[in-house]
Amino acid sequence: MELIVNRERCIGAGMCALMAPALFDQAADDGLVILRAEARTPQQQADAREAVAACPSGAIRSAEEPARASDCAGDGEAV
Ligand code: SF4
Repeated sequence: MELIVNRERCIGAGMCALMAPALFDQAADDGLVILRAEARTPQQQADAREAVAACPSGAIRSAEEPARASDCAGDGEAV
């Protein structure tokens, strides 16, 4: 599962890194999301979906799902 993050939208809440640490991290300097890996295994994909749902700012999404107008735009980073 390809994941897309938008660091401009991220508020550093850390839910993604908490729920899917293999996939997301936070930068040491600004606390914003860092995309670590694509979700390959079924468990990682489930974790990724939970992280997407838990992100309070809509800064992460699966490339499988179209971006909503209020969600991160297509200018994010993908792995
Ligand atoms: S959960 Fe969302 S807002 Fe929080 S660090 Fe991750 S991407 Fe950023």
